[in-house]
Amino acid sequence: MRVLVVEDEPRMAALIRQGLEEEAYAVDVVDNGLEVLAWVDSAVYNLVVLDIMLPGLDGLAVCRDLRARGYTAPILMLTARDAINDRVVGLDAGADDYLVKPFAIEELTARLRALARREGPSKTPELQVGDLVLDTATKRASRGGKPIETLTSKEYILLETLMRHPDQVLSRDQIIDHVWNMEFESGSKLIEVYISSLRKKIDAGHDHKLIQTVRGLGYRISDNESLS
Ligand code: CA
Repeated sequence: MRVLVVEDEPRMAALIRQGLEEEAYAVDVVDNGLEVLAWVDSAVYNLVVLDIMLPGLDGLAVCRDLRARGYTAPILMLTARDAINDRVVGLDAGADDYLVKPFAIEELTARLRALARREGPSKTPELQVGDLVLDTATKRASRGGKPIETLTSKEYILLETLMRHPDQVLSRDQIIDHVWNMEFESGSKLIEVYISSLRKKIDAGHDHKLIQTVRGLGYRISDNESLS
Protein backbone atom coordinates (compact mmCIF):
# COMPACT_ATOMS: atom_id res chain seq x y z
CA MET A 1 0.00 0.00 0.00
CA ARG A 2 1.31 3.37 -0.96
CA VAL A 3 0.40 6.49 1.02
CA LEU A 4 0.81 10.18 0.26
CA VAL A 5 1.24 12.19 3.46
CA VAL A 6 0.58 15.93 3.13
CA GLU A 7 1.98 17.61 6.23
CA ASP A 8 4.20 20.68 6.54
CA GLU A 9 5.40 20.28 10.12
CA PRO A 10 8.66 18.34 9.75
CA ARG A 11 8.45 16.59 13.12
CA MET A 12 4.88 15.41 12.61
CA ALA A 13 5.65 14.37 9.03
CA ALA A 14 8.67 12.36 10.19
CA LEU A 15 6.65 10.64 12.93
CA ILE A 16 3.90 9.67 10.50
CA ARG A 17 6.41 8.48 7.91
CA GLN A 18 8.22 6.34 10.45
CA GLY A 19 5.00 4.88 11.87
CA LEU A 20 3.66 4.00 8.44
CA GLU A 21 6.95 2.55 7.20
CA GLU A 22 7.06 0.32 10.26
CA GLU A 23 3.65 -0.94 9.14
CA ALA A 24 5.10 -1.66 5.70
CA TYR A 25 3.49 1.20 3.81
CA ALA A 26 5.43 2.95 1.05
CA VAL A 27 5.32 6.62 1.99
CA ASP A 28 5.84 9.90 0.14
CA VAL A 29 5.64 13.18 2.05
CA VAL A 30 4.72 16.51 0.50
CA ASP A 31 4.78 19.70 2.60
CA ASN A 32 2.78 22.13 0.49
CA GLY A 33 -0.86 22.07 -0.54
CA LEU A 34 -0.08 23.40 -4.00
CA GLU A 35 2.04 20.38 -4.90
CA VAL A 36 -0.51 17.67 -4.10
CA LEU A 37 -2.13 17.53 -7.53
CA ALA A 38 1.23 16.99 -9.22
CA TRP A 39 2.03 14.13 -6.84
CA VAL A 40 -1.25 12.28 -7.26
CA ASP A 41 -0.86 12.63 -11.02
CA SER A 42 2.57 11.04 -10.99
CA ALA A 43 1.91 7.97 -8.83
CA VAL A 44 -0.85 5.63 -7.73
CA TYR A 45 -1.62 6.15 -4.05
CA ASN A 46 -3.92 3.84 -2.14
CA LEU A 47 -4.52 6.42 0.59
CA VAL A 48 -3.92 10.10 1.29
CA VAL A 49 -3.28 11.58 4.74
CA LEU A 50 -4.01 15.29 4.49
CA ASP A 51 -3.34 17.94 7.11
CA ILE A 52 -5.74 20.89 7.07
CA MET A 53 -3.28 23.65 7.99
CA LEU A 54 -0.89 23.78 5.06
CA PRO A 55 1.08 26.46 3.23
CA GLY A 56 0.06 27.21 -0.34
CA LEU A 57 -3.40 25.72 -0.35
CA ASP A 58 -5.12 24.42 2.78
CA GLY A 59 -6.17 20.81 3.15
CA LEU A 60 -9.87 21.52 2.69
CA ALA A 61 -9.26 23.22 -0.66
CA VAL A 62 -6.90 20.42 -1.70
CA CYS A 63 -9.54 17.84 -0.80
CA ARG A 64 -12.25 19.65 -2.75
CA ASP A 65 -9.93 19.96 -5.77
CA LEU A 66 -9.06 16.27 -5.70
CA ARG A 67 -12.69 15.19 -5.50
CA ALA A 68 -13.74 17.69 -8.17
CA ARG A 69 -11.20 16.02 -10.45
CA GLY A 70 -12.74 12.62 -9.73
CA TYR A 71 -9.91 11.44 -7.48
CA THR A 72 -11.25 8.43 -5.58
CA ALA A 73 -8.51 7.25 -3.19
CA PRO A 74 -9.59 7.45 0.46
CA ILE A 75 -8.54 10.66 2.20
CA LEU A 76 -7.95 10.90 5.93
CA MET A 77 -7.78 14.44 7.24
CA LEU A 78 -5.74 15.62 10.18
CA THR A 79 -7.38 18.37 12.17
CA ALA A 80 -6.37 20.50 15.11
CA ARG A 81 -7.80 19.73 18.52
CA ASP A 82 -11.20 21.26 19.21
CA ALA A 83 -11.64 22.44 15.65
CA ILE A 84 -14.98 20.66 15.42
CA ASN A 85 -16.02 22.77 12.49
CA ASP A 86 -12.94 21.60 10.56
CA ARG A 87 -14.06 17.99 10.91
CA VAL A 88 -17.50 18.69 9.58
CA VAL A 89 -16.18 20.82 6.74
CA GLY A 90 -13.51 18.20 6.03
CA LEU A 91 -16.06 15.43 5.60
CA ASP A 92 -18.18 17.74 3.48
CA ALA A 93 -15.12 18.51 1.34
CA GLY A 94 -14.89 14.82 0.46
CA ALA A 95 -12.63 13.34 3.15
CA ASP A 96 -13.47 9.79 4.25
CA ASP A 97 -12.31 10.08 7.82
CA TYR A 98 -10.49 12.46 10.12
CA LEU A 99 -8.16 12.23 13.06
CA VAL A 100 -7.65 14.89 15.70
CA LYS A 101 -4.09 15.91 16.63
CA PRO A 102 -2.38 14.76 18.74
CA PHE A 103 -3.07 11.12 17.99
CA ALA A 104 -1.37 7.79 18.56
CA ILE A 105 0.29 6.43 15.45
CA GLU A 106 -1.49 3.10 16.12
CA GLU A 107 -4.79 4.87 15.72
CA LEU A 108 -3.70 6.37 12.40
CA THR A 109 -2.60 2.98 11.03
CA ALA A 110 -5.80 1.31 12.25
CA ARG A 111 -7.92 3.98 10.53
CA LEU A 112 -5.93 3.59 7.32
CA ARG A 113 -6.40 -0.19 7.38
CA ALA A 114 -10.13 0.33 7.80
CA LEU A 115 -10.24 2.80 4.89
CA ALA A 116 -8.25 0.44 2.67
CA ARG A 117 -10.65 -2.41 3.51
CA ARG A 118 -13.63 -0.25 2.68
CA GLU A 119 -12.17 0.34 -0.80
CA GLY A 120 -10.98 -3.14 -1.64
CA PRO A 121 -13.07 -6.18 -2.57
CA SER A 122 -12.18 -7.82 0.74
CA LYS A 123 -13.84 -6.59 3.93
CA THR A 124 -11.76 -8.79 6.18
CA PRO A 125 -8.15 -8.18 7.15
CA GLU A 126 -7.17 -11.46 5.45
CA LEU A 127 -6.17 -11.94 1.84
CA GLN A 128 -6.14 -15.47 0.45
CA VAL A 129 -4.76 -17.11 -2.69
CA GLY A 130 -4.99 -20.90 -2.67
CA ASP A 131 -3.66 -22.09 0.67
CA LEU A 132 -1.71 -18.87 1.22
CA VAL A 133 -3.27 -16.49 3.73
CA LEU A 134 -1.98 -13.01 4.52
CA ASP A 135 -3.27 -11.19 7.56
CA THR A 136 -3.00 -7.47 6.74
CA ALA A 137 -3.49 -6.51 10.39
CA THR A 138 -0.63 -8.56 11.83
CA LYS A 139 1.42 -8.68 8.57
CA ARG A 140 1.85 -12.42 9.05
CA ALA A 141 1.45 -14.99 6.31
CA SER A 142 0.74 -18.69 6.48
CA ARG A 143 0.54 -21.45 3.93
CA GLY A 144 -1.59 -24.53 4.45
CA GLY A 145 -2.10 -23.32 8.03
CA LYS A 146 1.65 -23.24 8.72
CA PRO A 147 3.13 -19.84 9.61
CA ILE A 148 5.64 -18.42 7.13
CA GLU A 149 8.89 -16.91 8.28
CA THR A 150 8.49 -13.20 9.11
CA LEU A 151 8.38 -11.04 6.00
CA THR A 152 10.50 -7.92 5.68
CA SER A 153 8.61 -4.72 5.11
CA LYS A 154 9.26 -4.64 1.34
CA GLU A 155 8.51 -8.37 0.98
CA TYR A 156 5.24 -7.78 2.77
CA ILE A 157 4.14 -4.87 0.54
CA LEU A 158 5.12 -6.81 -2.56
CA LEU A 159 3.15 -9.87 -1.46
CA GLU A 160 0.16 -7.76 -0.44
CA THR A 161 0.18 -5.98 -3.80
CA LEU A 162 0.25 -9.27 -5.70
CA MET A 163 -2.47 -10.79 -3.50
CA ARG A 164 -4.75 -7.79 -3.97
CA HIS A 165 -4.66 -8.58 -7.70
CA PRO A 166 -4.91 -12.40 -7.83
CA ASP A 167 -4.45 -14.04 -11.25
CA GLN A 168 -3.53 -10.66 -12.68
CA VAL A 169 -0.14 -9.99 -14.25
CA LEU A 170 1.49 -6.91 -12.73
CA SER A 171 4.23 -5.26 -14.74
CA ARG A 172 7.44 -4.07 -13.16
CA ASP A 173 6.17 -0.50 -13.44
CA GLN A 174 2.89 -1.33 -11.73
CA ILE A 175 4.75 -3.07 -8.93
CA ILE A 176 7.14 -0.15 -8.51
CA ASP A 177 4.16 2.20 -8.39
CA HIS A 178 2.53 0.24 -5.57
CA VAL A 179 5.52 -0.87 -3.58
CA TRP A 180 8.11 1.86 -3.74
CA ASN A 181 8.02 5.54 -2.93
CA MET A 182 9.61 8.27 -5.02
CA GLU A 183 13.07 7.28 -3.81
CA PHE A 184 13.03 4.17 -6.02
CA GLU A 185 16.02 3.97 -8.34
CA SER A 186 14.70 2.97 -11.69
CA GLY A 187 16.70 0.38 -13.52
CA SER A 188 17.77 -1.35 -10.35
CA LYS A 189 17.21 -5.07 -9.92
CA LEU A 190 15.37 -4.64 -6.63
CA ILE A 191 12.11 -6.17 -7.78
CA GLU A 192 13.80 -9.32 -8.99
CA VAL A 193 15.67 -9.52 -5.68
CA TYR A 194 12.48 -9.19 -3.62
CA ILE A 195 10.51 -11.60 -5.80
CA SER A 196 13.27 -14.12 -5.32
CA SER A 197 13.37 -13.72 -1.53
CA LEU A 198 9.57 -13.88 -1.41
CA ARG A 199 9.62 -17.13 -3.41
CA LYS A 200 12.01 -18.65 -0.89
CA LYS A 201 9.54 -17.92 1.89
CA ILE A 202 6.27 -18.63 0.07
CA ASP A 203 6.96 -21.33 -2.51
CA ALA A 204 10.14 -23.15 -1.51
CA GLY A 205 9.31 -26.71 -0.47
CA HIS A 206 5.87 -26.59 -2.13
CA ASP A 207 5.19 -28.43 -5.40
CA HIS A 208 2.48 -25.94 -6.19
CA LYS A 209 4.11 -22.58 -6.92
CA LEU A 210 1.92 -19.52 -6.37
CA ILE A 211 4.28 -16.73 -7.51
CA GLN A 212 4.64 -16.89 -11.27
CA THR A 213 6.87 -15.03 -13.71
CA VAL A 214 5.16 -14.17 -16.96
CA ARG A 215 8.04 -13.64 -19.34
CA GLY A 216 8.28 -10.18 -20.80
CA LEU A 217 5.19 -9.02 -18.90
CA GLY A 218 5.73 -9.23 -15.17
CA TYR A 219 4.62 -11.23 -12.16
CA ARG A 220 1.43 -12.77 -10.91
CA ILE A 221 0.20 -14.68 -7.91
CA SER A 222 -2.28 -17.40 -8.68
CA ASP A 223 -3.55 -20.69 -7.36
CA ASN A 224 -3.98 -21.83 -10.95
CA GLU A 225 -0.69 -23.03 -12.44
CA SER A 226 -2.13 -23.60 -15.89
CA LEU A 227 -2.85 -19.91 -16.44
CA SER A 228 -0.68 -18.56 -19.18
CA1 CA B 1 0.19 21.67 9.26
